[in-house]
Amino acid sequence: MSEKFDVVVVGGGPAGLSTAYFLAEKGFEPVVIERGPEPGSKNVFGGRIYSYVLDKYFPGWRKEAPIERWVRKERMSITCESDSVTLDYVKHKPLKEDEYDSFTAFLSKFTGWLSEKAEEKGAMVLPGSRVEDIVLNDQGYASGVVADGEKIEADYIVIAEGVNTLLSEKLGIRSKPRLETTALGVKEVIRLGKEEINKRFGLEDWEGVAHFFIGGPLKGIAGGGFLYTMGEYVTIGAVVRLSEVNRKEITMKDIAEQLRLHPAIYRYVKDGVLMEYSAHLTREGGLLDVLEKPYGPGYLVVGDAAGFILNTGFTIRGVDLAIESGRLAAEAISKAHEEGKRDAETLSVYKRLVEESVIYRNLREYRNLPKFLENEVLYRDLPDIACEVLGTAYTTDEEVRRIYPVLMNSLKSHGLGWITLFKLFLEARRSI
Ligand SMILES: Cc1cc2nc3c(=O)[nH]c(=O)nc-3n(C[C@H](O)[C@H](O)[C@H](O)COP(=O)(O)OP(=O)(O)OC[C@H]3O[C@@H](n4cnc5c(N)ncnc54)[C@H](O)[C@@H]3O)c2cc1C
Repeated sequence: MSEKFDVVVVGGGPAGLSTAYFLAEKGFEPVVIERGPEPGSKNVFGGRIYSYVLDKYFPGWRKEAPIERWVRKERMSITCESDSVTLDYVKHKPLKEDEYDSFTAFLSKFTGWLSEKAEEKGAMVLPGSRVEDIVLNDQGYASGVVADGEKIEADYIVIAEGVNTLLSEKLGIRSKPRLETTALGVKEVIRLGKEEINKRFGLEDWEGVAHFFIGGPLKGIAGGGFLYTMGEYVTIGAVVRLSEVNRKEITMKDIAEQLRLHPAIYRYVKDGVLMEYSAHLTREGGLLDVLEKPYGPGYLVVGDAAGFILNTGFTIRGVDLAIESGRLAAEAISKAHEEGKRDAETLSVYKRLVEESVIYRNLREYRNLPKFLENEVLYRDLPDIACEVLGTAYTTDEEVRRIYPVLMNSLKSHGLGWITLFKLFLEARRSI
């Protein structure tokens, strides 16, 4: 005998759990099926979540969510073989706790909290169960799932399976991930202890740093590194296009290692204890990776599975967009339910809601960015040029060095003329 629910949500990441939260808030009885032993346990996450989306929908979250540190310092480093150039943005004005716009967190803890919030509203969360198939009825409507060999029926299915889109591929709505728009992320968690982190980064207990890197340890590879301070830990990692991983014949373990040992990073994590290493796919295609139809008869697709993730090179935003898409999916299902319908045409309201939301406003605005970030010059040449020029400016001895000739020589040795730079500038203007 099969069970029946209003809505089955496949995947207990931020997108699936928030879908369940908002559905339960509207009086539905959704069930979230998560293959990991607990929600979020299968994901890799650098570590920063933007507050605005929680401020809107989760009253009191700042007091109860598992916040590691509020991000007060933002850093962007261009790293070379042994030097680095860093831009440091600090919010000096003392802010109240409810004024910080982002915080660091472990995704597993955060999704654990989100899961509790969804359950408080009346949703059911079933971890440790993998959905193998979406069941279609005779008219082609999604009408249930098969999880661990058991059929579970539902009026609506929400696919929140993240970036590994096996079910969407089976359903024929997504093809295999493309090398050019898929990236591999690696992350290490290093234990340093709260006091040591505060000392090394110049922080109070609750203050945090978000630090991005290009160049240096990544040796001309299109991608970037990150470092976040958690309460007792520092997470470091990198996100690199799959096409680059193949082309350069490097392993992600090497990349993580080189990143950790680079002087710009090593001084922060030295003598720390490596607690965890993980790797995970992510998307980098922006609007190009978004599903044309994140809806169909009886189903909707949310979060990473639908392509709602934005990597700007200095921020990765997946969690806030996932939560927003969950809210909109709940809205669309509620509307369709009121009309007693579940056909694709009725559920297409979801796409319209997404297009009017913060999700599309961001993806549209940054639509040219993924192409711009493919520019090898950014990773191969510009870091070296920046270090050479600033290295000259800040080196004083008996020799006379003017910066301009050094810049010209550096550009020449990298085969870059003014025309290339001007083109790059124009592309940047359209992209960032
Ligand atoms: C290295 C790295 C760093 C990142 N850093 C950040 C960051 O700092 N800030 C940020 O906002 N975003 C970041 N992201 C992106 C962010 O993690 C994702 O955008 C976000 O987790 C998407 O949520 P989701 O619920 O759509 O997918 P996921 O979090 O991937 O959740 C999908 C869930 O579905 C489950 N699942 C999949 N298939 C099945 C199945 N068949 N049956 C049952 N369960 C299934 C999975 O186990 C998983 O728990 C990062 C990503 C990577 C790879």
